[in-house]
Amino acid sequence: MKDDNCIFCKIANGEIPSATLYEDEDFRVILDISPAAKGHALILPKEHYADLYELEDETASKVLVLAKKMITRMTEILNCDGYNLVQNNGEAAGQTVHHFHVHLIPRFNGDKVGVAWKPGTLKDEDREEILSKLK
Ligand code: AMP
Ligand code: ZN
Repeated sequence: MKDDNCIFCKIANGEIPSATLYEDEDFRVILDISPAAKGHALILPKEHYADLYELEDETASKVLVLAKKMITRMTEILNCDGYNLVQNNGEAAGQTVHHFHVHLIPRFNGDKVGVAWKPGTLKDEDREEILSKLK
């Protein structure tokens, strides 16, 4: 299904032009319009899924394979030193476009790209609570 009000549906399906790095039956990979680093790209499925919670298993199973293919090729082209994959779900997690996407962010030694967090400490009660609720 496509969503008529979704900009990423229009981009993924070619109704709005984009800087396309790759396209197949299921996905389009484009350059992000406000990149965190040169070469920052987005994997967009052609079908509309708001986020990972909604993503069909079959599509989900293809995403990481495509991410691997893209970063392998783009690492050669950009000559970068590493890659971050970032995937936001929900506004609380920083999602601004509610069509599932994966950020592919090239990293260079010593760059100042900020996709890190301040490490905390795993509390005993948090570990026990989570593990007991999973049972
Ligand atoms: P997120 O915060 O994970 O939802 O990321 C949305 C991303 O989409 C941001 O990095 C935006 O810069 C990017 N973005 C928004 N509109 C466009 C567009 N028209 N073309 C390319 N990238 C876009
Ligand atoms: Zn969409």
